[in-house]
Amino acid sequence: MPQMKQNRRTVPCYTCGAPFYLSIRDTRFLGTYRRVFCSVDCLVKDVLTPRRNGFFIQQMVENGILKKFEPQPNDNGFVCFSHRLGTHFRSYFEAMVAEVLVLRYGINLIYEPFELLLQIGRRDKVYVPDFFLPDSGVFIEVKGEWLHGSKKKFLSAVQFLGDNGIILIPPYLRKAFSDANKSTGGFDGGAAGIASVCETGLD
Ligand SMILES: [Zn+2]
Repeated sequence: MPQMKQNRRTVPCYTCGAPFYLSIRDTRFLGTYRRVFCSVDCLVKDVLTPRRNGFFIQQMVENGILKKFEPQPNDNGFVCFSHRLGTHFRSYFEAMVAEVLVLRYGINLIYEPFELLLQIGRRDKVYVPDFFLPDSGVFIEVKGEWLHGSKKKFLSAVQFLGDNGIILIPPYLRKAFSDANKSTGGFDGGAAGIASVCETGLD
């Protein structure tokens, strides 16, 4: 069966069920994570589905598990500025995703509003998901690469918030988001020289 090898890298879209191709590298990036989408449209359908977890989130706030995130004054990680949204982001990928979700789909999006206290092993770790969608009650994490134990943090956030409580936007969707952003008039200057590209490229 010549298709066998290809099947190992083909996964079903969580929304529409259509199988789509992932490179070995993308498959490794995802690991056990399987809430994956064939397109930006299919991802958006999922994140717009109401979660009805407002009560759960309120409880987390009351129990101190979820706190308002306030960046330290010396936090200089916000290297990208979207002129069109008037917001700083930590990466070009994040800025691009935000522009697409807000400008193409009209989604109400809050950037890094909360920090989540997670227990990983015996340690307490603070994790700040990238976006929160108040209308559907879902978090979004945009990840171009896993750094500094960020995969462990994300996977334990999935365990804690539930499989539909936080959605990953992995690097294989970067091209699709870039194309979608072009349709909103956004410019994709690529990953190199993120700060300067972001400063000059997004207006
Ligand atoms: Zn799909």
